Amino acid sequence: MTRRLIVWAAAIAALIAGAVWLADNPGSATLEWRGWRVDSSVAVLIGAVAAVAIAAAIIYRGAWALWGLPRRLLFWRRMARREKGYRTLTRGLVAVAAGEAEEARKLAARAEKLLGDPPLTKLLTAQAAQLIGDETAARKHFADMLDRPETAFLGLRGLILAARKEGNRAAALEYAKRAYAIRPKTSWAATTLLDLQIGQSLWREALTTVEAAIRHGILTGEDGRRRRVVVLLACSGAAGESGEAKAALDFARRASGLDPDFLPATLRHAGLLIGGGRGRQAAKLIQDAWSRTPHPELARLFLSIHAGEDAIGRMRRMERLAAHNSGHVESHLALAAAAVDAKLWATARKHFDEAEEAGRRDGRLCRLRADAEEAEHGDTEAARRWLVAAAEAAPDPAWVCGDCGAVWRHWTPVCGRCESFAGLAWSTPEHVREDVPAQKPLPSGGTEMVEASAPAPVPTGDAAFAETRPAGS
Ligand SMILES: [Zn+2]
Repeated sequence: MTRRLIVWAAAIAALIAGAVWLADNPGSATLEWRGWRVDSSVAVLIGAVAAVAIAAAIIYRGAWALWGLPRRLLFWRRMARREKGYRTLTRGLVAVAAGEAEEARKLAARAEKLLGDPPLTKLLTAQAAQLIGDETAARKHFADMLDRPETAFLGLRGLILAARKEGNRAAALEYAKRAYAIRPKTSWAATTLLDLQIGQSLWREALTTVEAAIRHGILTGEDGRRRRVVVLLACSGAAGESGEAKAALDFARRASGLDPDFLPATLRHAGLLIGGGRGRQAAKLIQDAWSRTPHPELARLFLSIHAGEDAIGRMRRMERLAAHNSGHVESHLALAAAAVDAKLWATARKHFDEAEEAGRRDGRLCRLRADAEEAEHGDTEAARRWLVAAAEAAPDPAWVCGDCGAVWRHWTPVCGRCESFAGLAWSTPEHVREDVPAQKPLPSGGTEMVEASAPAPVPTGDAAFAETRPAGS
């Protein structure tokens, strides 16, 4: 600003200096042309020349502006149209998010008209079609998006969601593979592909995907490790079913190595070792696991290493295993079972009592006591009482789905009821609660008020339930 002021001041000063100099040095000028003659002073001549130059400059600028006007008008119109188009597009996307199907469809059509064919209008048109329920049109619009690299991923995403919605798993998997190839480091692409591979039991492909997802930091920590281990176990199971014994064992070994505390991995690994005649290795694995997480299936596997052994031999063997975690309720239960089997009644009773002290009276313990009563004394009445107690005791622990609560005898990678992956955990299933008696309708008159205010009966079902809960849980 100040610079401009200085330039102006300098220009005015120069003009004044020039005028003063011209006044001090007057002169005359004469112009003759085709019989015309003009007599003037030099000052006036210079002034006239300056005026003509300024006028020419103004005319030139004006003519130039007029010349470019149509082009500029067109440009402005296009800009206004684009702006309107993008505003319409934005409103359309908002309408999609709000679930206003008809509004979204109208805005999609308008945006397409205003903007021509930019990638985002395709997405809006497809989503609007989806909202209306026109899946065929939506699929077509999503498929159109595959032609351009910048919209291919978005188009595939729409196609995957549409395929999953209509239960077409094979198509969803194909699209997911393409989406994953475009953006392997995108969490959505990797986890979607993994889910679909798991859903179709493509375990070796799932293993590649889960390992890449861990490498890319998409699956992390305990969650990533657990998924990897469960996929490895599923690979082992599939290999076993197709007769690849060595591959089955390799997968199981990797799984139990990655997560030694994950029981299904230990059980699978130990079971395969025993099946392959490597009892010593299996025994070491089982004893190691028993010290951390004793489990009835571990005990069963441990005894199966030496098939054909007599009951006393099995008792001695079980004592060696239980010594790795001697205070645990599972150790007492395993020893009690072996003692009943070997008819060592005093030992059995000792472990019954210790199991009850260490844990609780669950169904397994009650059933063992029933067996003992019948075998030792032939007391069927006492046995019957224990069986009744077993029915009323806390349910046996089992593999329980964390998502749907389904209870399974054997662990599987995928829940057989809700298909959730890696959701089964060894725990005590919830007691089946008695249904609450149907509530009486609200009292409408004075006579019923008396009845309504009478003391409510003690809910026996729930009280019994509360008593049988384990102390620790
Ligand atoms: Zn489930």
